[in-house]
Amino acid sequence: MYFCNCLQVIVLLNKLIFMSKFSRISYTFIKEDFKVAKVCEICGKKPMTGNNVSHSHKSTKRRWLPNLQKVKVTIDGEKKSLRVCTACIRSGKVK
Ligand SMILES: [Zn+2]
Repeated sequence: MYFCNCLQVIVLLNKLIFMSKFSRISYTFIKEDFKVAKVCEICGKKPMTGNNVSHSHKSTKRRWLPNLQKVKVTIDGEKKSLRVCTACIRSGKVK
């Protein structure tokens, strides 16, 4: 009887571990789905990469992101929200 219970517990634990693994995977998939590219939808400005250079000239990677803002636009009478860089907004490429 005791042995049987033990087995059940082990099976349950295994199931739980499997479920947690699965949920973690699905969670990462969901996260990947909601990742939005940091690209301007008008001019295509993208993040640039370079180095941080310290006083001792030790360099580490860094990136410069475009200043993207959500802008509501009407294109052919259809309302849309675009992610546009501030340079495009300032120069009046979006209305
Ligand atoms: Zn732009």
